[in-house]
Amino acid sequence: MGAKGLPIDLAELDRPALEVALVERRHPKFHAGQIFRWIYRRGVADVGAMTDLSRELRAALADEFALKTPVLVHREKSSDGTEKFLLRLADGRQIESVFIPDTPSQTFCVSTQVGCAMACSFCLTGKMGLVRNLTAGEIVGQVRVLADALHMHDTTFNIVLMGMGEPLHNYDETMKALRILADVQGFAVPPRRVTLSTVGLLPALERLAREPIMPNLAISLHAPTDATRGELVPLNKKYGVAEIIAAAKKFPLRKRGRITFEYVLLAGVNDSADDARKLAKLLAGVRSKVNLIPLNAAPGIPFERPSDEAIDTFAKVLADSGLIVSVRKSRGRDIRAACGQLIVEGQKKSAAQQLAVSI
Ligand code: SAH
Repeated sequence: MGAKGLPIDLAELDRPALEVALVERRHPKFHAGQIFRWIYRRGVADVGAMTDLSRELRAALADEFALKTPVLVHREKSSDGTEKFLLRLADGRQIESVFIPDTPSQTFCVSTQVGCAMACSFCLTGKMGLVRNLTAGEIVGQVRVLADALHMHDTTFNIVLMGMGEPLHNYDETMKALRILADVQGFAVPPRRVTLSTVGLLPALERLAREPIMPNLAISLHAPTDATRGELVPLNKKYGVAEIIAAAKKFPLRKRGRITFEYVLLAGVNDSADDARKLAKLLAGVRSKVNLIPLNAAPGIPFERPSDEAIDTFAKVLADSGLIVSVRKSRGRDIRAACGQLIVEGQKKSAAQQLAVSI
């Protein structure tokens, strides 16, 4: 039992915490590894089915622990193979997670919050505001449900924290989730297969720089100047472009590692050749690569996607300046699974979402 006599949720425990919980209940701690293997490698959500544990232990565990798993409400497949999953949490809140196949790896895009507080002006999730943080168990739970639904427990996959929410605004639960995901008795997803995307919460970024488990870092930059970025990313008023670049320069990287700078291209706002030249100058001397994301337009979003020519020109200016550039192919746009298009709020639809479904 937990502190209030309630069963403890196994999904919320990293392995050291599970060992402690077992020992406190007079069970040998080595069972933690077995339990991890059942939950994360074999996708078993019921203690009763963990058949290499004795009958007595299974009965005791079933009394003492719970195992909460998000419920798969709906799945929708895009014509490009991308699949969007709507999941319901224990309190009825709903989140979305996305499977992106063959990029060339298999990738799970998971959420870290219900909604988001960052309110970037081109992002639908930002229109929801922050409803609540996800727990570590709910973050990892998305991976459990997707691995199960897609029969991928034996497949290698990458994880991108690019679903709903700002991961560094839910720091502790996100880091705990990465520890559970990395556990060799569990999913064993090494941090180099995980990419954390942040809008640039500097204090949290500095904390991340000291973590033992270090994911790849992507920073949502979107503009080379404070004037433009301030219009797009409200947080820029607190942590400006120069500070972000300074933090990026100091960020510890793996051998041959680079920081990805994401840049949503908005027609007539940040997509000129001059913007590209300013960006190239800004990133000179940063071990970086630039990921251009042509806007995924949506009703309620007051911007447009640039023409293909404008996108090509922008990319070429960067490449000619010696930067590594990629243009993110939009995946799952037909099912609103693409970047910035994830939006749910309980059963109730927000104004933006009502608009979105009405066309
Ligand atoms: N909060 C994190 C994760 C956001 S989602 C962050 O800000 O980095 C991942 C990327 O999708 C971010 O770069 C985000 O700015 C981008 N994005 C948001 N809305 C978008 C839209 N409508 N079209 C294209 N990309 C978008």
